[in-house]
Amino acid sequence: MGNLRFDVVHDAFKKKAAEVDIPAGKPSDFFGSQVFNRANMEKYLDSQTYQKLVLCMDKGATLDGPTADKVAEGMKAWALDHGATHVTHWFQPLTEGTAEKHDAIEQFDGSSLVQQEPDASSFPNGGIRATFEARGYTAWDPTSPVFIQDDTLCIPSVFIAYTGEALDYKTPFKKALKAVNDAAVPICKLFDPNVKRVYSYLGWEQEYFLVDEDLFAARPDLMLTGRTLMGHSSSKSQQLGDHYFGAIPSRVTAFMKEVETEGYKLGIPLRTRHNEVAPNQFEMAPVYEEANLANDHNQMLMNVMTRIARKHGFVVLFHEKPFEGINGSGKHNNWSLGTDTGTQLLAPGKDANGNLQFVTFFVNSLAAVQKHNGLLKASIASANNSHRLGAHEAPPAIVSAFLGKAMTEVLRKLLELPSDTPIEIAGKKGRHVGLVEIPEIFVDNTDRNRTSPFAFTGNRFEFRAVGSSANCAGALTVLNAAVAEQLTLFKAQVDKALDMGKPLQIAIMDCLKPLIAKVLDTICFEGNGYSEEWKKEAARRGLDTESSVPKMFCKFTSAEAVELFTSQGICDLKELEARNEVKWQTYTTKVLIEARTAARMALNHILPAGLEYQRNLLENLDLMRQNFPDKYRQMASTQIDLIKECGELITDIKSRSEELDSAREKAEALQEAFPKALAAEKAAEKIRFLRESIDRLEELTDNALWPLPKYRELLFIN
Ligand code: ADP
Ligand code: MG
Repeated sequence: MGNLRFDVVHDAFKKKAAEVDIPAGKPSDFFGSQVFNRANMEKYLDSQTYQKLVLCMDKGATLDGPTADKVAEGMKAWALDHGATHVTHWFQPLTEGTAEKHDAIEQFDGSSLVQQEPDASSFPNGGIRATFEARGYTAWDPTSPVFIQDDTLCIPSVFIAYTGEALDYKTPFKKALKAVNDAAVPICKLFDPNVKRVYSYLGWEQEYFLVDEDLFAARPDLMLTGRTLMGHSSSKSQQLGDHYFGAIPSRVTAFMKEVETEGYKLGIPLRTRHNEVAPNQFEMAPVYEEANLANDHNQMLMNVMTRIARKHGFVVLFHEKPFEGINGSGKHNNWSLGTDTGTQLLAPGKDANGNLQFVTFFVNSLAAVQKHNGLLKASIASANNSHRLGAHEAPPAIVSAFLGKAMTEVLRKLLELPSDTPIEIAGKKGRHVGLVEIPEIFVDNTDRNRTSPFAFTGNRFEFRAVGSSANCAGALTVLNAAVAEQLTLFKAQVDKALDMGKPLQIAIMDCLKPLIAKVLDTICFEGNGYSEEWKKEAARRGLDTESSVPKMFCKFTSAEAVELFTSQGICDLKELEARNEVKWQTYTTKVLIEARTAARMALNHILPAGLEYQRNLLENLDLMRQNFPDKYRQMASTQIDLIKECGELITDIKSRSEELDSAREKAEALQEAFPKALAAEKAAEKIRFLRESIDRLEELTDNALWPLPKYRELLFIN
């Protein structure tokens, strides 16, 4: 019998790094060359049109028809000069990834720049649009620059139903970013009247796996679900930790170089690349940017990576947990706020006043995370991420915040000392007991806690629970909305205190103290997030400990969440309900595809291999009996044991795959999204149960008969 596995392993092992065509010069010479950025706008637009467009980009002014025509004309000329033949509105529907519908560029004009009508019936909408009136429209988001990918001019857009509801990630995200600006500016003005805008920043760290494409093609589970549904762990996996920061393999280096080059051309400020902890796992991170742009860049880069990987004979896996027993992939979201005057609001200030401002934003952010911890968890929950969260290398399924020693001490002191104690930079006044001191720079990178889902890292918070395949906007819409709500509440309290005649510092500290006491007692946790005790402790502290993904989503329509989103104009109730429908449907669809795939593989791949091995053993036994009729039972005792165990496993695999089938059928028979998702969750348990027997059979069976590329091959060939 031919074995596909050996063919693909043989081929994959011999592959060499592909040639990469890198433009001459420094990256800065071609950085942004595929982007219609301000320099290109100035070149291709008359100055009046350019000025009007800048107003739209910077101040949110609307683009009038005649100006839109002129902008489109300039854009088209630029695009044609760069070889574009097609144009598309590029948007982020509630599925993963991005969507595009390409039109020939010839007819492109102002109205098609501003608005397009993709046939949107096949995008998830949670029942907002019945399929027969399947029309939504996409509209350009001028705050995110237009770019060329391949031969297509891509116009970053929002996606909205004709009835006005948002059908994408971008729309509510932009509203949350506006909310946090609106709430933060008045507080900043207490410290500096020149502040006009507050930006929310995002620096993402994208983790991913690379798998050789031929090996990938020999694994139906990877192909259909993005993860392995079975596979015995390799004798060597990540124990040595020798992959992390080790030399990057040459085929992978070539891939990374090409991705970086394409990324630079698209204006993505990529900065670091390195190996991750697990074999064949890697990370890429850019310099942080304004959050909406940073998220577009992440979505663009994921597209680029997927495309370029194939040129290098790889498939890139963004799944949160492609391999059991091996680290999963996350996408740390480094989040902060900063002003248009250049102040980082989550970094220590230059003086006591700056420090007071820092502490104000720091504590209010924590209070927001405390209040909405369950919702934040819901925002990162998905079928994929459920395999990563709570597992041993990933943040637990409870949202808590890690501050580090220095900031925990600062908060304790702020609570103890009188409200007018100045908050000094450490060392400036010498060591002093009656002083609150903040380290100027947090040099101590070892003071880190990998088990924390939300960690302070000196000038930002790092939301680590976000999944590698996720759209960052899901998590950051909630985070920014929650912080905005808290800041607004806080400002009202401070105003009252100021009206009573309190000086600014006392007014602020008097309002901060109850918040500090509360966050220290609830959301702040410096210990081991993986421990069993923490689960109990977290429940005692009133933190959300729900571990069922479909149930987590219910938080989105809880009273606090509805208040959070509607009072700030981010989403209305109908949208929240529709989004939950989509979340449940997506969860169910993913799990049921996995269920079908696992059961079929059990029957079509695994049982035949097990049966053949058993047959070989029986033949061997038969020969033993013929040759040694008297002693064969002792002599072949190993064979007999193996035959028995093989038989038991074969029976288990058959019965467990039948159990899985019936759990899947139960879920399929249900109509409503929530109960269906709960039923799918039961099927997910059966997938795990089935895999236990399969993995044991793999461990037992003759290597030559095993049809699927093994973990060691998937993880170590590159
Ligand atoms: P680490 O792995 O140590 O967390 P990385 O360099 O991989 O560090 O990623 C850190 C990310 O955080 C980068 O994207 C970086 O630009 C970003 N970052 C740094 N400072 C800020 C900030 N003030 N706000 C948001 N993101 C930031
Ligand atoms: Mg980080």
